[in-house]
Parts: sequence; C-alpha cells; structure tokens
Amino acid sequence: MTRKLAILGATGSIGKSTLDLVERSRDRFEVVAVTAATNVAALADIARRTNAKFAAVADASRIQELEQALEGTGCSAGGGEEALIEAAAGEADLVIAAIVGCAGLRPVMAAVEAGKTVALANKEALVTAGQLMTCAAAASGATLLPIDSEHNAIFQSLAGSRSEDISRIILTASGGPFRTASAELIAGATPAQAVAHPNWSMGAKISVDSATMMNKGLELIEARYLFGLASDRIDILIHPQSVVHSLVEFIDGSVLAQLGSPDMRIPIAYALAWPERMETPAQRLDLAAIARLDFEAPDAGRFPALRLAREALEEGGAAPIVLNAANEVAVASFLEGRLRFPDIAQSVERALESADFAAPASIADVLEIDQAVRSRVESLMIEGCH
Ligand code: NAD
Ligand code: MG
Repeated sequence: MTRKLAILGATGSIGKSTLDLVERSRDRFEVVAVTAATNVAALADIARRTNAKFAAVADASRIQELEQALEGTGCSAGGGEEALIEAAAGEADLVIAAIVGCAGLRPVMAAVEAGKTVALANKEALVTAGQLMTCAAAASGATLLPIDSEHNAIFQSLAGSRSEDISRIILTASGGPFRTASAELIAGATPAQAVAHPNWSMGAKISVDSATMMNKGLELIEARYLFGLASDRIDILIHPQSVVHSLVEFIDGSVLAQLGSPDMRIPIAYALAWPERMETPAQRLDLAAIARLDFEAPDAGRFPALRLAREALEEGGAAPIVLNAANEVAVASFLEGRLRFPDIAQSVERALESADFAAPASIADVLEIDQAVRSRVESLMIEGCH
C-alpha cells in the first residue's frame, strides 16, 4: 500500500532530502500536499515533479502567482496559514513537518489533532508547545516520529523499552563550527562562519543554532517532551565526528546507540518507512576508515545557550516559548548583520529575565506569548542601536 504524504516545508533542506528519498521509491509513496513559505517557483516545480494534488504558499499574497505556475497540472493552490493547515490535516497519512521555527506550530498541531503520523523535524513546534502537543497526540491517537537525528537515534535505541528501564539519555552534539574556537574568536564570528557546519548541510537558522549550541538546548527540550524524561536524566555530550547520533543508558548499565554517516536521509527514511525500513543512498559507515571517535564534555562558558535552555526547561510554563522566540528573532538579526554573535545568547537571556507570562493553556496562548516576546526583543535591539 502506498503511503500518502504531506510535506510541510518542501523547499527547505529537510524537504529536499525527503523528496530525494520519495523520488527514489515512487511505488511506496504518493505526495498529496506540499508547502513553502514564499518560493512559488520552487514549490510549483516540486508539485509538478511529485504530482501533488495541493500546494500551499504561506505568503497569501502569492496565491495568484502560484495558481499561474500550477496551470495545467491539476494541482490546486492555497495561500496563508489556513492553507498550510489544510495541507497538514487533509488526506495525508504521514505528515513531514519540516517548516522552520514557531511558524510551523499551527500546521503541526492540526496534523496531530487529526490523528496523523507526524514525522517531526520542526523542533521549535515541540519546544514551544511540548505539553499541549503530546497531550493532543494522546487524545487523537497521532504518532510522533522524530526526524531530528539525535531523537531519531534515541527512538531507535529505545525500541519500545519500558520507561522504568531507562536511566538516562545522552544527546550527542558535534560542537558546531566554533567547538575549538576561543571566546574572542567566537565574539567576532560572521554569519558565513557560523553557517559553515563541519558535518551537516542544513538551513541557515539551524546552522546558526548549532554554532551557538542553542540547537542542542532546543533538542534538550524536544527530548523532554518526546520521551517524557526530566531534565536531570538528559545529558549532552560533544562528539565532533557526528557518527554516534545519541545514546540511551538503561538501569542495568547497558548503553545502546544508533550510528550512521551524517546524512539526514537516514533518519528521514526511518520515519518514512516506519515501522519498516527502506534503502537509502547514504554513505555506509566505514569505521576502520574513521578509525577513532572522540567525546568531550560541553563547555557552558563559551556556549551559554546550553545553560539558558536547561534553565528554561526546568522553569517550564512559558519559559521555553520565550527562549525560542527570542532566539528566532536574534538569529534572524544576526544573519542580517544587525547583531553580533554573542548577542544572540545575551538577547535570549535578557528576554528570559524580563519575562513574566502565565503558563499557556492553548496554542493561541503560545502564539500570543511568542508574538509578545518577538516585539519586545525587537524593540530592545532598536534601543541597543542608539
Ligand atoms: P530550511 O530553512 O532549509 O527550510 C525551511 C522550510 O520551511 C522551507 O520550505 C521554507 O519555505 C519553510 N518556511 C520557512 N518559514 C516559513 C513560514 N513562516 N511559514 C511557512 N513555511 C515556512 O530549514 P531546514 O534546515 O530544512 O529545517 C527545517 C526544520 O527541521 C527546522 O525546525 C530545523 O531545526 C529542523 N531540522 C533540520 C535539520 C537539517 O539537517 N536541515 C536537522 C534536524 C532538524
Ligand atoms: Mg539534531
């Protein structure tokens, strides 16, 4: 039986890797819906290639442009957030959630509430609404399959183990492009240096997050909600080669891990084929050629984002939303050349210190807090410029 897919964020890095796999195994999948933020030409090209029935562009002002680009294909066009929700909650059995940022939250929740199997790359959705999303999944019967390589590795290593048998999980981190850089060098980091990840090729936002190590901070919170473990049972370990994608330690002292070459097509394929497996063109792991694997403790001094994320997780309530929103704004400003690299973590810290929001009871609350933090961080940045 073919699996019906919706690919949210089809034009991005995860979207492209997903399409690469789908196009190699056409008999297994039918792409029913695809979405993108603004790039109508790329979206229409994907819709043509996959024979999708529905394509949605987040920027509603581009719907006519999309309709024109799709002429003669039989694929209908949609625009705006409602269209993204329609793509997520429509005909698909499996929704690939690969939008970047909190912008993906409503579509992901729509898929969860509709009881879909959701292959989740969009970690910001889980960071900002972890509790609401896992509760909604329990209520609707939706399954969350992690695409993020670390969480996918843990999911594979757990293999359905009882939670009382797990003692802790260990998230590995490459350390990013500044792992060995001095604090002085990091202070002067440019966007080009920050997005040049040593092992993975990814979208700009997550690449900067890897450089600040906020990515691992967000993943800590993501792990908390995916696996239901408290903060003190989730450790972070630097592993520069990105071969061991994460580990689980059990109460008997056994440690299981998932290894593979650093290619996102491996975790994506796992989610696409689950509970089976499918072939991928990913390079096979040649451990003799790699010869050694290194591990070291993270340095919280040079990478304050790790501490901030752990504090936000432990504080709970609105804190992870504040952390994420401030980080999204600060990373965008850094990429535009308006903010220095160390100011990213500093903006997040200031936002967390000044925040005083009640815990969210709904997705509307989450988005309201998200918006309030964005405006506040932006106005603080403008003040900082004078
Ligand atoms: P990307 O920037 O390459 O692509 C993002 C996609 O989201 C694009 O299709 C874009 O059009 C869409 N998008 C952006 N803003 C949008 C908006 N406001 N509304 C609707 N759609 C919007 O990003 P990516 O690297 O593919 O990452 C996607 C998600 O997957 C992120 O949450 C990231 O943290 C996570 N992730 C990525 C990787 C990776 O290797 N790239 C690995 C693990 C997790
Ligand atoms: Mg990851």
